[in-house]
Amino acid sequence: MAEPALIVPSGCRHCGVEERTHYTRYATTDEHGNPLPGHQYVQPTQEQIKARMNARASQEEATDGR
Ligand SMILES: [Zn+2]
Repeated sequence: MAEPALIVPSGCRHCGVEERTHYTRYATTDEHGNPLPGHQYVQPTQEQIKARMNARASQEEATDGR
């Protein structure tokens, strides 16, 4: 329940939600906590994907690392 959501490298460019669970009217906050209006899934940039893969690697170390 209290687990942090896993970072999805290919998640939405705006909110990081993966495409299969993203809905057109998805309203949430972005990674900076800013509220986002409903929007469609947008493919992230290659740079975002890379950055997220790095972030996820550290996240896995932090949650799984002992
Ligand atoms: Zn989104």
